[in-house]
Amino acid sequence: MSRTPSSNARSAANTSVPLLDVHRQYDELRDDIRSAIDRVCDSGRFILGPECTALEQEIAAYCHAAHTVGCASGSDALLLALLALDIGPGDEVIVPSYTFFATASAVWRVGAKVVFAEIDADTFNVDAEHVASLVTPQTKAIIPVHLFGQCADMHAINRIARQFGLYVIEDACQAIGAELDGKRAGSMSHIGTLSFYPTKNLGGFGDGGMLTTSDDAIATRLRLIAAHGMSPRYYHRVVGINSRLDSLQACVLRVKLPHLERWTEARAANAARYHELFAERGLADAVRLPATASGCRHVWNQFVIRIDETRRDALRQFLTDSGVGTEIYYPVPLHMQECFQPIGCREGSLPITERAARETIALPIFPELSAAEQRRVVDRIGEFFSSNASRKLQTVEAAKPMRQMARRAS
Ligand SMILES: *Cc1c(COP(=O)(O)O)cnc(C)c1O
Repeated sequence: MSRTPSSNARSAANTSVPLLDVHRQYDELRDDIRSAIDRVCDSGRFILGPECTALEQEIAAYCHAAHTVGCASGSDALLLALLALDIGPGDEVIVPSYTFFATASAVWRVGAKVVFAEIDADTFNVDAEHVASLVTPQTKAIIPVHLFGQCADMHAINRIARQFGLYVIEDACQAIGAELDGKRAGSMSHIGTLSFYPTKNLGGFGDGGMLTTSDDAIATRLRLIAAHGMSPRYYHRVVGINSRLDSLQACVLRVKLPHLERWTEARAANAARYHELFAERGLADAVRLPATASGCRHVWNQFVIRIDETRRDALRQFLTDSGVGTEIYYPVPLHMQECFQPIGCREGSLPITERAARETIALPIFPELSAAEQRRVVDRIGEFFSSNASRKLQTVEAAKPMRQMARRAS
């Protein structure tokens, strides 16, 4: 990294803390991963094959699911789930607006109507009461997202689904291993979706995804649709898509999976340490720390704090300048995205979601993050609040163009 030698840059070089450093995990497992990759190269089986079958079985056991079906990405897993449940034009699917794009785009892709629901201000997860109020005779499914690694209120959502005869698809792409009252993410509904994108808790060396289900018929149909609806070979029973997990991804993920529990515990320890550090530094009022819902095992894919919206972008700029990696998940809620304007949602329609988008900032939480690095992150945040930077930079508003763009579109 070449930087101009300002005092900021000098301190950043010595003390920078990345949002995520994938090298540390690779360094730890390098030999095992390399020999697994060699094994696949020697076998000549690159698509599906024994590595994928073995990974499917191992993930099924880990997620407490009867069946798993590998696919090309978490986004495809959502699409496949909707296709397998025959959801399409004329149907409505309720999704949170505060999530990654794929949750809603899959619904749009199959031709169904996307219905955006509000979130709970404490957990960022979909508000079940609001979901219930959005059900119409056309509603076919609800897609709760286990956002940032914490399970949505599945008891309430499943109650609504039973009452109105709806399907539930858990978007567990950020939450592998998360639990609600002892049940694992992906095992509490008709279908669960997982992503192995490199920033997820179980990250591959490229794209990859998986579906979980405990319904035999749904599992068979998911597998059929993910392979061009073909069974037997060159006989196409339905029009599916091509979405396969490749063996190189599967073999890397199989090396990593036995370490996932340990990594999850390290993430939880880091989250607990942030809580201690923020309290010690007297920052508990300036910063709102993430809450864990009762009965939840949070797997901390992200550690997302909230601060006053007039200072959020200045804090992010200050941390960037001090070498601390952060991210905004998500700066523009989905109901305000340009591509979803035809749905007819406007700014102001989901105020809790919109406020979260203005106030949140994600801090480094990856398992290999050291205690010293965490102290540095919290020290820098303390400096921001005690310096003039928090006031002076108010006018900078790094994300202003983003918000204006969303506003223009509405
Ligand atoms: C990452 C993610 C996805 C999509 O996963 P990809 O593997 O990147 O396609 C879907 N939903 C949520 C909530 C995600 O975080």
